Amino acid sequence: MEVKLNKAAPELLKTPPASMSGVVFGTQFSDHMFCMEWEDGKGWHNAEIKPYGPLLMEPSAMVLHYAQMAFEGLKAYRTDSGENVLFRPRENFKRMNRTAQRMCLPELDVEEVLDALKQLLRLDSAWVPHESGTTLYIRPTIVATEEAIGLKVSSKYLFFIILSPVGPYYSQGFNPVKIMVSDKYVRAVPGGVGYAKTGGNYAASILAEKEAKELGYTQVLWLDAVERRYIEEVGAMNIFFVINDEIVTPQLTGTILPGITRMSVLELGKMWGLKVSARRISIDEVLTGLKDGSVTEVFGAGTAAVISPVGALSYKEEEYQVGNGETGPVASRFYEQLTGIQYGKEADPFDWVESI
Ligand SMILES: *Cc1c(COP(=O)(O)O)cnc(C)c1O
Repeated sequence: MEVKLNKAAPELLKTPPASMSGVVFGTQFSDHMFCMEWEDGKGWHNAEIKPYGPLLMEPSAMVLHYAQMAFEGLKAYRTDSGENVLFRPRENFKRMNRTAQRMCLPELDVEEVLDALKQLLRLDSAWVPHESGTTLYIRPTIVATEEAIGLKVSSKYLFFIILSPVGPYYSQGFNPVKIMVSDKYVRAVPGGVGYAKTGGNYAASILAEKEAKELGYTQVLWLDAVERRYIEEVGAMNIFFVINDEIVTPQLTGTILPGITRMSVLELGKMWGLKVSARRISIDEVLTGLKDGSVTEVFGAGTAAVISPVGALSYKEEEYQVGNGETGPVASRFYEQLTGIQYGKEADPFDWVESI
């Protein structure tokens, strides 16, 4: 694939923030973006790196009405040796293709888009922040652009990648969060789009998140939509429990987003010789375990926060503390090891890190 290079004029280049402290997640963008188009009969074409800026789209563009789209989230890390690297990027583009299949979007050539992403990252390499715990967040997106408001599969699409420098997720350190189990709303149903990283899933969840925040909880823990009994996941993270020294996470049933951090935690745990399993976990098992002490840790896992310890759960207006409410040893170990691999401080036994 040939990528046309249309660089921003030198006088229009922005200065990357000198420090990421105080920068709100996802509000700053680098100088350039990657775009390519797809059209029936033509396939992907017009691949171009160009100055970051507004998209030209008619108000009738299909994505604005029916949300036919897919997105991804991954990061570029600056290692201790000063190199910029990616973490398992092929997994993101493979997952984007699974979302694309579900949403009737055209698929991508994984190696070609990875190569285009690397070209973009080399051009905007100064935007990968240097401070400890900071990263350049990468947002690939596909949207339906056909100018038509009749409901059907679009015949035109735009794929773009934008880059956003972000600070460490934990501005006040690696502290446990309080989450609220939702018994009022559900996120995904069997046969639906829960496993797809597509905008509608998030639009449908913000009311529950807003209500949880009003009650002092940072995120929602979703239960299955049929029985409202089995644990699914948190807003944008998968969830793990340490139950009788075993690391347990819900199995993938089609309603849960198959996280790359989740997969990495399972693979690392196995390598360390820990007991790990993906199975059904009921809310009753968790609450009973929190009371009798057999559930010792709860933590979320996702690209944004890496590992997010949970200090308390609320269910039906009752609050349950996890252990002593502090970060546990298992969550800390995964956090240290994963970030250690990402920043080149630890050996990379599975070759997860990819040079740019
Ligand atoms: C992106 C996402 C995750 C985490 O996936 P990672 O690949 O680990 O970043 C988990 N749940 C939801 C709903 C997500 O959107």
